[in-house]
Amino acid sequence: MRPPEHVEAALRSQPRPVCAYVYDTAALRDRAAAVRAALPPGTTLLYAVKANGHPDVVRTLAAACDGLEVASGGELELAVAAGARRIVFGGPAKTDAELAAAVAAGAQVNVESAHELRRLDLAARAAGVVAEAAVRVNRAGPALPGSHAMTGTPTPFGVDEAALAGVLALRPESVRITGFHLHAVSNNLHAAAHARFIADAVDWSVDTARRHGVPLRLVNVGGGLGVDYLGDSTIDLDALRAGLAGLAVPGGADLIVEPGRILAADAGWYAAEVLDLKHTHGRWFAVLRGGTHHFRLPAAWGYSHPFTVLPVDAWPYGWERPQVADVAVDVVGELCTPRDVLARDRHVRRLRVGDVLVFGRTGAYGWDISHHDFLRHPPPVFDVV
Ligand SMILES: *Cc1c(COP(=O)(O)O)cnc(C)c1O
Repeated sequence: MRPPEHVEAALRSQPRPVCAYVYDTAALRDRAAAVRAALPPGTTLLYAVKANGHPDVVRTLAAACDGLEVASGGELELAVAAGARRIVFGGPAKTDAELAAAVAAGAQVNVESAHELRRLDLAARAAGVVAEAAVRVNRAGPALPGSHAMTGTPTPFGVDEAALAGVLALRPESVRITGFHLHAVSNNLHAAAHARFIADAVDWSVDTARRHGVPLRLVNVGGGLGVDYLGDSTIDLDALRAGLAGLAVPGGADLIVEPGRILAADAGWYAAEVLDLKHTHGRWFAVLRGGTHHFRLPAAWGYSHPFTVLPVDAWPYGWERPQVADVAVDVVGELCTPRDVLARDRHVRRLRVGDVLVFGRTGAYGWDISHHDFLRHPPPVFDVV
């Protein structure tokens, strides 16, 4: 993928050696509109902040979507600062302080266990309010295709369907349970399967609410709309729209969709300058001012991330510029570990020291999963004894 002109201009204006993420807010707004158009009219579209918590990205998507999904107290603060009209708070490890902050912010909480429901009840009682919550359920049914299954399989997320009756029977004084949260998968590229999952989640919610006397006001089907990192396609949004045509939650309850990846991925470009080129034991290596500490996804998922070469003609040194032509290179970072690899065995037509490699589709789970503020949980205490 080549960056659009305004992104290339931003990359060319960076100080050298170039090492930068460029985020394109117009691309965020365009993608939010495209995703919204694929969903049934009236669907609530939230942005899952963990995909990219840069304040400008969060603010742009808070405005372009109906609100934000957050998974920590730190993300909740970002969402409040971004002026989100609606906030949903999920995540399997909420602290009492985070539950109190969620109640204070008027967020709708996705409760993930009986213990957590009791703690939310305490927090709501202390604040003198009745909090609205959904129960996150790990359904018995089979998992969806995608890279990270969260339900239909053993995970720490949500209440096992077999234990749901016990949680719903608690009937806490200051929490009103009005729906279910059924986020199931990440990076699903199968539109028809995703549409079936959403329709099935609605049917299951209606049926489960009826059986347990839950006044159903919301069905949250989570995120998981995928992008293909090895190509330029995403989950087919036209096919998703066709698969969801006519879907509505009976009784006028709110259908909530909360993607992260598909909204932010194509708005981000990671660029790193080639600092050296070397040939060892029969392989070419392009060594970058950057690496997996900035962009961990290819190392975490075990694939080679595609890139384009941004040629830079300036050459400040008084000797011949190292370059290769028509060879395969391993693209590695500046860290002193052989695992700092962004791409292996990629053909380049020409590559020179001083050129810049540009990695597209890095706006979601790029910088964010690579640094210690991922998900905006507080850092550990460092106690030197
Ligand atoms: C991560 C997450 C999302 C967003 O998932 P994507 O795969 O980025 O669309 C939505 N909801 C919950 C609960 C999540 O944990």
